[in-house]
Amino acid sequence: MIALLKKINQIIKSLNKLTFQQTLLAGLIVLLLLHAHPGASQQNPSKKTLQVATKIIPPFVFQDKDKLSGFSIDLWRSIAKEMGADFKFIVYPTVPDILNQVEQKKVDLGIAAISITAERQKKFDFSLPMFAGGLQIMVRSSDGKNNIFPNLLQMFFSPTLLQLVGIALALIIIAAHIIWLLERHHQEGIISKSYFPGIFKASWWAAATLATQADEMPKGPLGRMIAVIWMFIGVIFVAYFTATVTTAMTVQQLQGDIRGIQDLPGRVVVTTAGSTASEFLRYSRIKAVEVASIDKAYDALLKNQADALVFDSPVLLYYTANEGKGKVEIVGSIFQEENYGIVLPNNSPYRREINSALLTLKENAAYKTLYEKWFDVKKS
Ligand code: GLU
Repeated sequence: MIALLKKINQIIKSLNKLTFQQTLLAGLIVLLLLHAHPGASQQNPSKKTLQVATKIIPPFVFQDKDKLSGFSIDLWRSIAKEMGADFKFIVYPTVPDILNQVEQKKVDLGIAAISITAERQKKFDFSLPMFAGGLQIMVRSSDGKNNIFPNLLQMFFSPTLLQLVGIALALIIIAAHIIWLLERHHQEGIISKSYFPGIFKASWWAAATLATQADEMPKGPLGRMIAVIWMFIGVIFVAYFTATVTTAMTVQQLQGDIRGIQDLPGRVVVTTAGSTASEFLRYSRIKAVEVASIDKAYDALLKNQADALVFDSPVLLYYTANEGKGKVEIVGSIFQEENYGIVLPNNSPYRREINSALLTLKENAAYKTLYEKWFDVKKS
């Protein structure tokens, strides 16, 4: 303590020795240095115009011409107001695009429906959670799913049935030729001598017998022997045909029901590329078609190009209650919980301020008002 006092005394003494001009010069140099130092302008980081990356993802971000709206847009506006910061939104197509921009520090932060994940946390700073959600499954609405006519039509043109018909045709042609060869020389034979029209009659006989509907029988002993064998083949074929069609119909009905994540393997699942949903599906070894945007995923589901869509629950719920009303439905509960956050570059000078603003908004009910504005609580 005494040593410190001595040191201060020394400095004062040496300052006293400086002339007025020298003191002025020293002061000027200090001012200049402070101004030139980049950190100096960041003393109050909220004074600069913040570049805010976002992406369209209803109901968090909507775009109507140049105007942005939505829960995340309103929330950011309130946070910026709390911080007293100016900002400018820049819209990017996907979450990976936003992350890229943040990583390269081309923008100061990103806000949309960006999930906080352990993997992303390695490269970025996140604000405190701003919204709790998770992943869920959406399917086409069940109305009409058990409609018998589309199901039957689908059945008639199914590869299994076409294969069976092919086999039946091949068998009929073989049997018709055998019978024609054996019966054509018989005096009271049922088939004429010449190939045409003899083969037509023989084919008709073979087809009718295969379907166990024969009305005439060959007259020659060899022909009759073949006819008996053919009748047995007919019985077996009809039994096999019935069994195949019944099984296919049962499987089709069972497959109609996707109730949870356990029903997804083997089905066509769609999601968006680079999303946490695509990450989850890859990790769970569920094959998925990845499209560029959520709108394309809705399209694929509605056009029967996919059986199920896996994505963020709040986004799906909003679509189900609005544009997709009556066309789609959500099945099962949230199977992976996720929180949305504001993404920032590592060690961002704005994180603390953003978190304080977010907490203030949550405490003074402004957050609740926003939530009620964008999420019809009664409906959901
Ligand atoms: N929440 C998801 C994510 O962060 C998807 C968001 C989106 O595609 O907008 O990857």
